[in-house]
Amino acid sequence: MSETYRHIETQLVHAGEPLPRIAGAVEMPIFQSATYEYAGEGNYHDVRYLRTNNTPSQLALHAKLAALEGGEAALVTASGMAAISTTLLSVLAPGDHLLAQRCLYGGTYDLVTGEFARLGIEHDFIDADQPESWRAVLRPTTRAIYVEAMTNPLLEVADLEAIVRFARSHRLLSLIDNTFATPVNFRPLALGFDVALHSATKYLNGHSDIVAGAVVGSAATIERIRHRANHLGGSLDPHAAFLLKRGLKTLALRVRYQNDSTLKIAEFLAAHPQVARVNYAGLASHPRHERARRLFSGCGGVLSFELRGAPERAEEFARRLRIPIVAPSLGGVHTLLTRPASTSHAGLSAAERHELGISDALLRLSVGIESTEDLIEDLRQGLA
Ligand code: PLP
Repeated sequence: MSETYRHIETQLVHAGEPLPRIAGAVEMPIFQSATYEYAGEGNYHDVRYLRTNNTPSQLALHAKLAALEGGEAALVTASGMAAISTTLLSVLAPGDHLLAQRCLYGGTYDLVTGEFARLGIEHDFIDADQPESWRAVLRPTTRAIYVEAMTNPLLEVADLEAIVRFARSHRLLSLIDNTFATPVNFRPLALGFDVALHSATKYLNGHSDIVAGAVVGSAATIERIRHRANHLGGSLDPHAAFLLKRGLKTLALRVRYQNDSTLKIAEFLAAHPQVARVNYAGLASHPRHERARRLFSGCGGVLSFELRGAPERAEEFARRLRIPIVAPSLGGVHTLLTRPASTSHAGLSAAERHELGISDALLRLSVGIESTEDLIEDLRQGLA
């Protein structure tokens, strides 16, 4: 990476952009072409074609994302789940065993428990906060350990330093879903993780108008994942690539504003008599606040909370709000509100949700870039 692009704000705008500029264009044009003239490529993976993930907009994004996360290489995919499934299928084969954090994003949880079980890829869930319990579930076939920077929807912060040490001492590949933190708040590769994954649908793009995914790591690991991706086919199309690259340019501005706004909203909610509990690692009352302060430069734009009283009150409250849109997903410019029991974690049984600590009354707020004051006023009237 060029020495000129030392800080993330500069990397977001300039890293990976083609030089010289194409026809002098300040912003890289959309390359709406599926295939490219043959130029003597020697093997299938080098043929320039959208599905082989080597066209100009894909390559620019790969270089930019590698710079942001401090990795040697990166790959963009058609969704976050394409990044996660393709990556795990590249590093795990039938008979292999995966250790995964118990409270995973619902789609990843279903992939590991459903699809992988059918393929003969085994797993054990771990309490990622209890390092002393991990050895007991380690097997000779364990190949990888998978966690999330902050869990969804409870915003727990696992013992990520211990995860890295454990992975290294047992020669496991360590993978982390960094969607919630983003490279603005946390750079897992610098901590020692091997692979960082993203649902780029969320903060990286930031405007709730595409689905996309990303994976960053060493050149050798990414090449292996890219070859797998070329077969599985979840490639990002040129228009989505253009929007993702455009969205990335404002990532630092958006995320820092969202960090500040979300902390203020968390403080407001925590002090409100109608609110029973707030989950946000930026609050001093959060059980892992000190760890979050050590690892992250901000605690992100998502919090969750429970109202006092029956779960129906949560639905009633959501209906009364004027600014937050009741919709799944997160990380965009609009503030979104969801009840995980009926959206992201609806695929789990009530018993599984209970075991994970996700009550029917829990609400998750993804704070957008609207005025903090307006959002707090709206929440106040909704709670009145
Ligand atoms: N990882 C996390 C933490 C998520 O929240 C999501 C989606 O909500 C995903 C991965 C999956 O991403 P996508 O919807 O882009 O496939």
